Amino acid sequence: MAYFDDLSDYVYYNSAFSRPGTKAVGWLGLGHEFPARPPEDSLLDLLWLYCSISVAQMRGWHDCEFCSRGGAPYAERNGQELLLGTSELRAFSRDGSIYAAPTLIYHYMAVHHYQPPDEFLQALCDGPKPPSPEYFCQLDKLRLEWNRTHVR
Ligand SMILES: [Zn+2]
Repeated sequence: MAYFDDLSDYVYYNSAFSRPGTKAVGWLGLGHEFPARPPEDSLLDLLWLYCSISVAQMRGWHDCEFCSRGGAPYAERNGQELLLGTSELRAFSRDGSIYAAPTLIYHYMAVHHYQPPDEFLQALCDGPKPPSPEYFCQLDKLRLEWNRTHVR
């Protein structure tokens, strides 16, 4: 998977899913250190909601570079399993910033204790959240197609 510095301009694939004002978050890679702190359960619950809606769906999947699990990267939370690593999520701050993160960010936080930038966490908490109509309205406004993340 591509590596991007947190909060750098999101330009993945150059392209179809880039929108002005979008910042990259959670595009980790081997050889790049990241801040770590064990996440609160409530934060993981919140992030799970975002990961359950996929934008920028890809073919195939990206594995975590920090562990070698093999097979499709499913994550489990509260009895539900989501296929991570095949798509991205979007989050929206109240001041108009857009954040693009790989859905693997859930795994990075839950397993590797990756600590995303505060402004991203703020957007997760304060911005419109899936499955609210306001959230899907934001995606539509940006003409970002979405689908439900595959559940096993
Ligand atoms: Zn991992």
